[in-house]
Parts: sequence; C-alpha cells; structure tokens
Amino acid sequence: MTAEPKAALREARSNLWRYYPTAAPGETLYGTCARFHHLAGFKRPALTGRLLFDFERAASKRCAPMGLNTFSACVRDAGKPQEIVETMTVGALYLRFMVPERAQRALSWCCHCGAGRERFAFGWGSAQFERQHPLRLCPICMRADAQAIGFAYWHLEHQLPGALVCRTHREPLRAVASPSSGWRMPELAHSRLCPGVSARQHAFLGQLSSTVAALCDARPIDGRSLRAAICRELEQAGVVRAGGALAMQNVQRWLEGQLQDLVECLSAFDAQKTVPAVCGVLEKSRAPHPLRIALLMTCLVREGASLEDLAAATCKAPHGADRTAPSTPTSPARAYTLLETGMQAKEAAEQAGVSKSVVARWLSDPVLRDRWNTARKRRLFDTHAAAVCEALAQGARSTADLRRDANAAFQWFVRNDPQWMNQQLVESQMPAQLALWK
Ligand SMILES: [Zn+2]
Repeated sequence: MTAEPKAALREARSNLWRYYPTAAPGETLYGTCARFHHLAGFKRPALTGRLLFDFERAASKRCAPMGLNTFSACVRDAGKPQEIVETMTVGALYLRFMVPERAQRALSWCCHCGAGRERFAFGWGSAQFERQHPLRLCPICMRADAQAIGFAYWHLEHQLPGALVCRTHREPLRAVASPSSGWRMPELAHSRLCPGVSARQHAFLGQLSSTVAALCDARPIDGRSLRAAICRELEQAGVVRAGGALAMQNVQRWLEGQLQDLVECLSAFDAQKTVPAVCGVLEKSRAPHPLRIALLMTCLVREGASLEDLAAATCKAPHGADRTAPSTPTSPARAYTLLETGMQAKEAAEQAGVSKSVVARWLSDPVLRDRWNTARKRRLFDTHAAAVCEALAQGARSTADLRRDANAAFQWFVRNDPQWMNQQLVESQMPAQLALWK
C-alpha cells in the first residue's frame, strides 16, 4: 500500500467517531458494524473491515473479532477492547468459563490482527466457532424494534449458544442461511426456522434460552461453587443419593431422559455426544463449555431448582463472606407440596419417585420439617378423633369403654390431648343426664 491511501485511511478513521452509530440495547458489535456499513453506503465488506479493524475479513469474525485495538481507538465511545468483547460478542460467555490466563490470551487475540495470532483462542478453530453460532433473529423482536427505534438489529442474546427461542416472545429464532458473507442486516427473507419443534422441546428450549442469558455475565465463574450448587440440586431432584458420591450412571440416565429429543436442535454442538459431554463437566473430563453447563442447569430448573440461585452460584462469594459456614438446607418446591399434606415419608418417596433418603434430606430443611410435623399431627388428630366419635356413637360412655373399643385412639389422646377426649365423653353423657332431670 502506498503512502497516500494510508494517509487517507488515517484521516477517515480520525473522523469516524462522529458518524459511527450508537449501539442499540443489547446489540452485537457485528450489528453496529453492519449498520455502519450500510449507512456509509460502502459496496465492499472488505473496505468496512479495513477501515474499522484494519482487517479486510472482519465481517467473518462475528463471534470473536480481531483488530479491536484499531476499532476502539477510532470509535471512541465504544469503550475498551475488553469491554467490547464482554458486552457485545458471544466471546463474553466463553471468557467466563476459561481459566484467567487463557481468557487473557483470547482477549489479546481479539485486540490484534496479523501474524502471531493463536489459532484456537476460544478453544475452536475460528471457522468452526462462527459455524456453531449462526446469526439468529426473532421476527417479533424485529417488528418491535422497527416500531420503537426505527430499525431492526442483531441482539446478542439471540446469538448465544443454546439460544434457539426468544426469551421475551417465546418465539423460535430463525437462523440466517449463510451468515459469513459480509455485513448482513436482519432480514426475514434470508432466514429459516429450526425444523419441527414439539411443544415439549419448545418449553425446554425457552428455558434453555433463559438459562444461557442468565449465564452471560462479565464476572469469571467460580467453578467450585457452581459444581457444588449443581450437585446439591441433583441430590434434591432425587437424581443422586443424598450425601453420597455422584452416581454418574444415574446422572447420565436422567440426562438421557431429559435431552432425548433435543439432539437435532443442538446438532451444531456435536449432539450425538451431548449427554456424555454434559455429564463429563461434573467429572471434569470435559471442558465446561457454557452450553454444557446451561443444559445441566436447565434440566435442574425443570426439576424445580431456582435459576436465580444457580446463576448466583456461578460467581465467587463477595469478599468477607464466610464460605465455610454451613448453609441452612432448603428443599425444592415439590417437597413442600408433598410433605405439607402430612403424608408419610415413605408415601412421599413413592409419589416423588425418589428414595427415602432423599425425603430424609428434604426434611432436614427446618421450615419444611416444622410444617410437616404440624400437618402430621393434624392428620393423626383427625383419624383418632373419628375413631373416638365412632366408639361414642356405638355406646361407649366411659374411659374404660373407649380403652376397650378404640384403644389406639384412646392411647393417642392420653398422650397428646386428654382434654379433648374428656370433653367428648362429658358431651356424650349429657343427653342421658338431661333425661333424668325431666
Ligand atoms: Zn423476540
């Protein structure tokens, strides 16, 4: 390149910040670049890439951009390169799950371009990384955006791995056919729907999108705390036994049941191996790909776990918090539903399809134990009171009669509520006495 065009490029960049569009809420970096490309009226995508990133093929690096140093210097309001990656690219989600040194290498890969780049910065060859994240759009969001701000744009939330349904509208997202060609604007005409999604799959995928969105956070994950939270929820869902080591066969069987018909939807992520790969996260034989964690969490949320609690467990406890303090056990919602009726632990275990030790663990939650005890007492009272009334109706008039005719109930009331039983005896004798007085 001769000196003159270089100078022209520098001059164009120095004025760029005046014309570069401001990002819409939740818009991707690729989205703002695409809008700039179309507003500027450039024909060749390479020219926009060259101007913004000093990199002609920038349009093909949607997920993990390159040349962010150039971009950040000429578009002043865009923020520092790290901020851009963490808020405007899917790279954000991946950085969270990397060890710090590796995350730093991936970030510096995004800042520069040219020789010396790492080929597998995000754990994949970059072409595969882009293929795994086709551009996705929600037709309803598109219409709403056009109405509210005048144009449709690419939402980061729709581009995350595992986001196949719009979280806001519960609408299946549409994928753009060949997203790698240039700076594309969202257009319905060039998008296609994920083939045949059943109602069950749709519900699961809706939940999965919420989980993935909840995982997208700039803070690095605390793997230990997250794993502990997942194991705890696995116990409470009755997948593995309380207190014991993780029974991976049980986890695998449970996951197979949950993920059975989602293989096709998740095919971009090597779905044949989905179940072992998701399981492997717990055994640490597989890298914690965000989608694997998201799938595990989604299955647990469908078993009654709280997404907020699980998402909170991904972060390190704030400084000063005592992490060794024993936490008060809490039980899942369905444990409350079952045990608040006062049913026997054995019966509850059968109805929930879990072992008795899981029910025992549920009952270590002091609030639930209290309510269970109260309900059980009420149940026993009702049963024994019915027996006493029956005996009185059959002619029992004294405590000796009750001891003979309804011994179990008699014994229970002697221990728990003798006053009530005496009251019934007195009342049963009253009509006879009244007759005597007449
Ligand atoms: Zn939508």
